[in-house]
Amino acid sequence: MPEGRSVDGDPVELIDGHAHLEEVPNLELELELAKKNNVRAIIAVGSDEGSNQAVLNISRRHSNYVFPALGLHPWNLSDDFDAAVRSIEENIENCIALGEVGLDFKYQTPRELQLKAFGRVLDLALRHDKPLIIHSRWAWREALELVKKAGVGRAVFHWYSGPPDILREILAQGYYVSATPAAEFSEAHRAALKEVPLERLLLETDSPVKYRGVAATPSQVIKTLKAVARLKEVDEAEVAKVTTENAIRLFELKI
Ligand SMILES: [Zn+2]
Repeated sequence: MPEGRSVDGDPVELIDGHAHLEEVPNLELELELAKKNNVRAIIAVGSDEGSNQAVLNISRRHSNYVFPALGLHPWNLSDDFDAAVRSIEENIENCIALGEVGLDFKYQTPRELQLKAFGRVLDLALRHDKPLIIHSRWAWREALELVKKAGVGRAVFHWYSGPPDILREILAQGYYVSATPAAEFSEAHRAALKEVPLERLLLETDSPVKYRGVAATPSQVIKTLKAVARLKEVDEAEVAKVTTENAIRLFELKI
């Protein structure tokens, strides 16, 4: 059976649920490659005003293939993030989610500033009914509590590597978790993914993040698929089918 085919012969279609496309070198070529490798759609996440504009432009050029999420990343925050928030709101009808957003208590951005910015994002998500793509490194508890308290209904905890008790609460709330190619080697990420039912899992690459020194591209979401299938001892075609359905449902993709 050729690789990338399911038992009944249909191509195994994948969705890269999280990629920083504006940072990917040779992007047009990489998007062609992704299509050839059965990547059916890509969620392009922004991090600040500039990258949000860039992902909107890329998604316009590749409509129905690249879907934009507008973000305010805790690593990209400056004291004055008002303009970035305003710009997200102006373009909010054109995005499928708010992301990458969240908290990172290992990063140098002051916590108070991160919490303020995340509060504004939560407010936008509620008023415009958008799902969140959440970065929560070393701030898992705080991120979950804030999302819960705000009453946000739809969220994915990207690359979750936090404690199992918080993970159980994330799942009990009905939120999703996304797997990256670090599912091959990161013990914390692998432990979390073992606990996440397939019905709550998305696949992603976080391109162009480097894994063991190699920069990821969207077509490498196949690596995430293979690692997850091995880890969970589930057929690759089944993991692909369910995670693709999950992404379509969570982001209400019209594809
Ligand atoms: Zn990211």
